[in-house]
Amino acid sequence: MSASRSSPPSPAHPALQPAARPPIALRYLAGYPDALLAQVRTLIERGELGEVLRRKYPDAHEVRSDKALFDYVNERKQQAMRNAPPLQLVHYDAKLKVLQHALGTHTRISKIHGGQLKSRREIRIATLFKEAPAAFLDMIVVHELAHLKEPEHDKAFYGLCCHMMRDYHQVEFDLRMYLTQLDLDAKAALESS
Ligand SMILES: [Zn+2]
Repeated sequence: MSASRSSPPSPAHPALQPAARPPIALRYLAGYPDALLAQVRTLIERGELGEVLRRKYPDAHEVRSDKALFDYVNERKQQAMRNAPPLQLVHYDAKLKVLQHALGTHTRISKIHGGQLKSRREIRIATLFKEAPAAFLDMIVVHELAHLKEPEHDKAFYGLCCHMMRDYHQVEFDLRMYLTQLDLDAKAALESS
């Protein structure tokens, strides 16, 4: 399934779409074309979304600690954004709600230090990315690094993201499907307990 291509949805089997059932809410995917969302709903109804994502993104990563994350982010920064100011703090944050501010967060806190105004640059990554496929961690790191130069989610921002990660838009879409699947897994676990 491609996020950039708008192909017609494959017709769902009628038996899988009882008329009484309300459409599955796709809160992580708001704003994408309806045809694409229909394909996602079909995968969910067939119970295939998790497997589709596992097949497409089989690779885990070893970026398990804040130290490893700091090194990873700085290495990525050196490749594409050498001239951006150095990062002071990079860490995983268990309290971060992924939906707030598009999946990660970046802050530029201005503080007065001995009469000098210094900008503290910090990148926090939601802890769920520790367990996520490597491509999703990379995408979120690219997103936060791009914010060092471009604060808004505008054309310049996404241009920079795509410069750092060629298939950025596709991976972001796939990540949003992954988050949807995590919610479904959590809900199923609750219901079976
Ligand atoms: Zn953002």
